[in-house]
Amino acid sequence: MSIKSINPYNNELVANYNEHSVDDVHKAANLGHQAFLNWSKQSFSERATILVKIAHNLEAQKHELAKLITIEMGKPIKQAESEIDKCVWVCRYYAENTAVFLQHENIQADAYRSYVAFEPLGLILAVMPWNFPFWQVFRFAAPALMAGNTALLKHASNVSGCAIAIENLLTQSGLPEGCFKTLLVSGKNVEHIIAHPHVKAVTLTGSTGAGKSVAETAGRHLKKTVLELGGSDPYIILADADVKKAAKLCATSRLINSGQSCIGAKRFIVVDAIREAFEQAFVEELSAAKAGVPHDSETDIGPLARSDLRDDLHQQIQKSIQAGAVCLMGGELPQGSGNFYPVTVLTNVRSGMPAYGEELFGPAAAIIPVSDEEQAIAVANDTCFGLGAAVFTQDLNKGEALAHAIEAGCCVVNDFVKSDPRLPFGGVKQSGYGRELSHYGIKEFVNIKTVVLNKI
Ligand code: NAP
Repeated sequence: MSIKSINPYNNELVANYNEHSVDDVHKAANLGHQAFLNWSKQSFSERATILVKIAHNLEAQKHELAKLITIEMGKPIKQAESEIDKCVWVCRYYAENTAVFLQHENIQADAYRSYVAFEPLGLILAVMPWNFPFWQVFRFAAPALMAGNTALLKHASNVSGCAIAIENLLTQSGLPEGCFKTLLVSGKNVEHIIAHPHVKAVTLTGSTGAGKSVAETAGRHLKKTVLELGGSDPYIILADADVKKAAKLCATSRLINSGQSCIGAKRFIVVDAIREAFEQAFVEELSAAKAGVPHDSETDIGPLARSDLRDDLHQQIQKSIQAGAVCLMGGELPQGSGNFYPVTVLTNVRSGMPAYGEELFGPAAAIIPVSDEEQAIAVANDTCFGLGAAVFTQDLNKGEALAHAIEAGCCVVNDFVKSDPRLPFGGVKQSGYGRELSHYGIKEFVNIKTVVLNKI
């Protein structure tokens, strides 16, 4: 079987890769396990030296790596460069902080001495998505490696070039052989990697469907999982919000990565009193974004990563319009090559429409009108997802109260949701479980070991 990488800007073939065989997987898992036996014994400062070197090499190769992201999944080049910057940040963050995060924790109990040690688990499998092909991998790999684990990467098939580039960069930076290995395997063939006895745990970032499938297989083999899945983040705009600022921040969030972000704003829950003003300001902000050649540094919106994803999005929009949603802009498939989708805004979105209940993974926004705050909270929580959320109001106390009332892994008042190495990241409900980033993230793949010492 071959795995294809296709440029979404012109749908031309970038590269064709041979899929790794079951035997290749077995060799990589054995190598990863052998590497773990040495890597886990190194000190935090030895591992940190390599993470700092990785950060340095990412910076040095930023332009080339960003170009690769742009070619394989269409991200506008300036956003691709920012993605590499963020990987640099997460490597340095864990290089500097792991010794503190994973230091022994003394606990006063009955024995002479009791403490908790945080020990690495072993070889971890990461199944990753294409939308942030470097960042998603580094936010897993930096803490996992610093904790003393080793890793296998099964990346999304359409970004296989990025997957190979990541392995090469880590090796060039001095990471010992076997500590990080890319496997080119399609999503439907992941089961035997999970089942391999040397694989101790699995993390998946991707759709809810893929998460369920991986969790089911991992469950059968009794292996721990962390799942970072889809989202349909609600952004509530209350009557006392600064409408212009809210519209600007909502538009920015909706268009990041051409709308293909799990924590992008997707449902705009707007109280009737300011609905017209918000719609006008929001459409104005979105209209200013420039779609075009992803390699051009002026471009804000590129093509969608795959043609099937564009088809799915268009179906969701058309079905919502047929069910009574009003299209304020966009909604028509453009002519020409490339997987471009126009910035689209639907209003009067109601329960039962795809734009209400499903994730819109592209530059399309759903405005859901509500009469008051109480209804806004009910609508925000009327979803199977629970990743991020935002509230816009000039009353910080009210905003804080709403932040607690919304079922999500993160709720922000008067800004949009973004990931930050210092803050935990993850979801509830069908958006997954477990946390990445911060000291919580690094503790997902460690054995929290109780050590009790008694004198006799
Ligand atoms: P996807 O189809 O779930 O793909 C993600 C990864 O899972 C890819 O490596 C894919 O491999 C693999 N995969 C697919 N089906 C699988 C299966 N049955 N068993 C094992 N692995 C499987 O997701 P996508 O549509 O490409 O990505 C977008 C989704 O990811 C959105 O829902 C988005 O919200 C979510 N996402 C979530 C986060 C977060 O942090 N919560 C971040 C980014 C994206 P192949 O490419 O070979 O199929």
